[in-house]
Amino acid sequence: MENKIFVTKAFLPPMEEYIAEISSLWETHWLTNMGAKHLKLQEELIKYLDVDNVELLTNGHMSLELTLQAMNLQGEVITTPFTFASTTHAIVRNGLEPVFCDIKSDDFTIDPEKIENLITDRTSAIMPVDVYGNVCDVEAIDRIAQKYELKVIYDDAHAFGVKYKGRGVGNYGDASCFSFHATKVFNTIEGGAVTFKDPSLQTTLYELKNFGIHGPEEVAAVGANAKMNEFCAAMGLCNLRHMNEIVLQRKAIVERYRERLSDVKGLQLSIVQKDVESNYAYFPIVVDEKVFGSSREDVMQHLENHNVMVRKYFYPLTSSYKAFHRKYDVHKTPVALHISKRVLALPIYPELSIKDVDRICDLILECKSI
Ligand SMILES: *Cc1c(COP(=O)(O)O)cnc(C)c1O
Repeated sequence: MENKIFVTKAFLPPMEEYIAEISSLWETHWLTNMGAKHLKLQEELIKYLDVDNVELLTNGHMSLELTLQAMNLQGEVITTPFTFASTTHAIVRNGLEPVFCDIKSDDFTIDPEKIENLITDRTSAIMPVDVYGNVCDVEAIDRIAQKYELKVIYDDAHAFGVKYKGRGVGNYGDASCFSFHATKVFNTIEGGAVTFKDPSLQTTLYELKNFGIHGPEEVAAVGANAKMNEFCAAMGLCNLRHMNEIVLQRKAIVERYRERLSDVKGLQLSIVQKDVESNYAYFPIVVDEKVFGSSREDVMQHLENHNVMVRKYFYPLTSSYKAFHRKYDVHKTPVALHISKRVLALPIYPELSIKDVDRICDLILECKSI
């Protein structure tokens, strides 16, 4: 039996490199609470992400949650259900109401033409997702936000290092929230960061990630604990040095998948976006059973039978979660519903060999005639 291939595999720097990076911690005994590694990584990320302001946090989810809290929002937030649980949960856990907007069928990001109809006098923000690292229609979203005076907070968990029109994606909207989870393109084991426009958010976010502590004898806000520790920041410093090779290896994999799968009838790939410098974070395919001859479930089963693990990423829609007790109607986002029932994320990580990519493609193509 062939070796098992997972949908992703966490990147690790050479062990010696990490050991060298953390060795000073045995001298300082400063393990968390905004130590030297934390400060250094924050500086490096300003450069890498090409942004003005960054606040590091313990994970992507807390970045979303605390950014919403920092902006002191009320009422409703327009978002999409074609995402990871975190996006919707961050809204609900802030006491805000998610309002689900449909997505575009070609790049799976929020459909800006459907946003305005959802705006009410209770709407305070839009939280779009740069899903799979695809960039939302930032210009259209910006126009709507200006017209209705709404905040825009991007869930950029998938979009680390992505550029649009030559600028880091973190420059668009009021804030962008990144995830550095082990499975993401760039990881700090667990970690996340917020990039933002208004510099006054820095203090607010800094305090919110440290219990709302403002001074030795003053707690000014009901904060959380979301500080990135020094071992995670050190992992980030190491991994950041490898970003070029990580992105190039991912690019080669995506190019091979596209070569093998783009002309296959019944398989839809994401479009290649104009003006976007990609990070090649994910490779989703959408299986149209009627044309392809096999369903998404059949393809998944066939791959798993041959030790290739794929994910229904994203299925189900967050709006259909049991946690929300059928409060939301999934039929109001028909495109998202359609895609979520047919999508499969294929394996992609720097170490994945082109030979394995070919094996995965062969297995998928075998399903055409099943
Ligand atoms: C991973 C992810 C998050 C959450 O990030 P964590 O670092 O795991 O907390 C949020 N949104 C999306 C779309 C994600 O994929």
